[in-house]
Amino acid sequence: MTEDWTRTTCPYCGVGCGVLARPRDDGFVEIKGDPDHPANFGSLCSKGSALGETLSLEGRLLTPIVDGAASDWNTALDLVAARFGEAIAAHGPDSVAFYISGQLLIEDYYVANKLMKGFVGSANIDTNSRLCMASSVAGHRHAFGADTVPGCYEDIELADLVVLVGSNLAWCHPVLFQRLVAAREARGTKVVVIDPRATATTETAELHLRVAPGADVALFAGLLAYLAEADRIDARYVREHTVGFDAALAEARRFGIDAAAEATEIARSDLIAFFDLFARTERVVTIYSQGVNQSSAGTDKVNAILNSHLATGRIGKPGTGPFSVTGQPNAMGGREVGGLANMLAAHMEIDNPDHRRLVQTFWASPTIAAKPGLKAVDMFRAVEDGRIKALWIMGANPADSMPQADRVREAIRHCPFVVVSDVVRSNDTTALAHVLLPSAAWGEKEGTVTNSERRVSLQRRFLRTPGEAMPDWRQICEVARRMGHAEAFAYERPSQIFAEHARLTGCENGGRRDLDISAFGEISAADYAALKPFQWPWPPAGEARETRFFADGRFYHPDARARFVATPFRRPATRTSERYPLILNSGRIRDQWHTMTRSAKAPRLMAHIGEPFVETHPDDALAIGVKPADLAEVESEHGRAVLRVVVTESQRPGSLFAPMHWTDQYASQARVDALVGGATDPVSGQPELKITPVAARRYPAAWHAFVVSAARVSTAGADYFALAPTRAGWRAEFAGLEPPRDWVAFARRTLVLGDHVELVAYRDGSMGDIGLSPSTTVCSLAQFSPRPNLSRSPAPGLPSGSANRSRRRRGCASSRDGREPRVGTADRRSAPASMSAAMKSSKRLRNLGARLSPQSARDSRQVRTVVRATAKSRG
Ligand code: SF4
Repeated sequence: MTEDWTRTTCPYCGVGCGVLARPRDDGFVEIKGDPDHPANFGSLCSKGSALGETLSLEGRLLTPIVDGAASDWNTALDLVAARFGEAIAAHGPDSVAFYISGQLLIEDYYVANKLMKGFVGSANIDTNSRLCMASSVAGHRHAFGADTVPGCYEDIELADLVVLVGSNLAWCHPVLFQRLVAAREARGTKVVVIDPRATATTETAELHLRVAPGADVALFAGLLAYLAEADRIDARYVREHTVGFDAALAEARRFGIDAAAEATEIARSDLIAFFDLFARTERVVTIYSQGVNQSSAGTDKVNAILNSHLATGRIGKPGTGPFSVTGQPNAMGGREVGGLANMLAAHMEIDNPDHRRLVQTFWASPTIAAKPGLKAVDMFRAVEDGRIKALWIMGANPADSMPQADRVREAIRHCPFVVVSDVVRSNDTTALAHVLLPSAAWGEKEGTVTNSERRVSLQRRFLRTPGEAMPDWRQICEVARRMGHAEAFAYERPSQIFAEHARLTGCENGGRRDLDISAFGEISAADYAALKPFQWPWPPAGEARETRFFADGRFYHPDARARFVATPFRRPATRTSERYPLILNSGRIRDQWHTMTRSAKAPRLMAHIGEPFVETHPDDALAIGVKPADLAEVESEHGRAVLRVVVTESQRPGSLFAPMHWTDQYASQARVDALVGGATDPVSGQPELKITPVAARRYPAAWHAFVVSAARVSTAGADYFALAPTRAGWRAEFAGLEPPRDWVAFARRTLVLGDHVELVAYRDGSMGDIGLSPSTTVCSLAQFSPRPNLSRSPAPGLPSGSANRSRRRRGCASSRDGREPRVGTADRRSAPASMSAAMKSSKRLRNLGARLSPQSARDSRQVRTVVRATAKSRG
């Protein structure tokens, strides 16, 4: 590696890949995988590879803004401190709240948590990680006495059986998936996927169990009962290292094979095949993710999984263990510094008086929160009913990503004082802020993150901080200083915060708590800058340091024993009804991230899937009255979306799937979390984002249009639009309930054409030959049709068979050399037909601004009405 490459860490998912970044003289940043990082060994997925395309300053927030007008840091920070101080003085500490993010760095999280819990005296600090993995935290604490991920990525490669539960690992954690695929090819690892829908991940599995939505507890209860029947319980381990087995087994025995098959809607023979495989395979890793966590029974699901590993003693040994993979780059780091409303710093407990004393003494703080604060859903309810008078949102977009997002948006709108720290100027949450604080973005700041295997890596700075952007930790410290806590927040650099965090983890620890990185308690700025990725624990020299936890059978409950948890099976909190007969599942797609504020800047990521969609089984499509590429209205008790229809057998009958990424910036009505209800897990407070009863019907569009343009198109007044950047400009889908009176005027308005631009418009009855001369230069193009399938291709089906399988795997492939990843069949499988057409047309017109040849015009033969806006060569 040459010196001008900077080692840093990917800011997207919880795999935590190492990245090498090198700014070029022309302003572009080259990106490639870090071959020396133990998470990825040089691989990157499509999102990581495209990071260089997301770093432009377009759309950035670069100066503080107060009440809609540009301001300066002093004014803005003084105002934030004053308004928070006033609220606390008038209404008490619990009248203010921080809503933060798994995107923040450990150092940001640490000072935010310290300010709220130790100096404001409230625990009203929660994070979007509540939506991601709070049920895993609760399950871990129940079973282990601490929020401990026992294993490491290597275990996935050492296992003989990997069970994936509620995880589309191929799309959501692609590099980890590639490690699994490589291990499978090298040593024949068996893979079982438990998921209601077929995904790119299920295509690798020996066995795909299409569990009924929400029935995972019944499935794992059935497994525990089967293990007991088959005499596969590790009785010595259970006797010596656990308590509660008999009660858990008694509960599980309600699910013999027949009862489990009925509850899970899985064929008896498939259940037996899985149970038997699990029973006779010693090295088993069970990976689970949002399909488990995002449930009103999420904590029980986690404990049902942990029960099966404790019962067999398959934990803490190479190639074994339950494995929660986190969605966000620093969800784990946030947990470590107490970024959740029900935790203290350093994995200490808020309801433990000893821990409160320890933390308060360490911080020398005037107070310490004495009870858990408001978890995310409850926090926004408190904003709605006026209990929260001042709210600071950092690096999160709750107006889109919270359940009942419309309601949350209104709640924030009516909050007396809202501060938003973000890197973008305009999203659905920044629009609601009284004060906007410009944050430094990835590449412009320095700090640490912890990935899913407890590996701490440094995100390094390789770009100048633009405008007046400021790291979040510094913003928080400046506000703390103005609130009278200058001494406790007198950090000059992130290394000082990291060192303090590390010292706290070792404080009165002596092996009593899992998290101990006190070896770094005196780390210098130079050593911090050179920090290599490390896995915790890392206690001071001389104390035992293990890669895996629980190898010795000792846990963090006072008696050092793990707890089995009896997990009675509950159906999902929300049920279908005559009015809402379908279940909507929501989740990620491969190439987008959260609410797209970063990933949508990269045209190649938008080329994967550029329009929000809903997947439906063919039987449901028939019942709803939709065909492939139609638009569908999907409606719940809480909200409504209009989405492109994909008809596919990857869905179970009765279930729909829609991505959670789209916002008002990129689509007219696709904020899917607006439909999701507010039911939460009673222990973890994690919302049930995977199960929403909905109704669906055909959206009665009278016309459809596909537009490509070198300049951004206008979506004002459109009944339906979906917008995506391309390499050469923009493309968009439009639809409307009433045809415009004047297509040409509509095209001129939509394409934002100046007077100098000549429109070439014609109605194509049969020929399809536009007759443009080869010298014509086209700057934009709009195609109108009464039908949605402008496509020249049929709706994509679900290919099957081994020949397709290898190609589809490539679709999820990563690139070790940082080049653009290959795109295979799997990419198209979820793409709506018209989107597929858009991709083709977009390809044809890739060089917008250059010439559109008559040949490409002839390709548009099936289009009935065409308006072409052209800027003729004036030469
Ligand atoms: Fe980033 Fe992809 Fe690695 Fe996740 S798998 S950390 S998104 S490169």
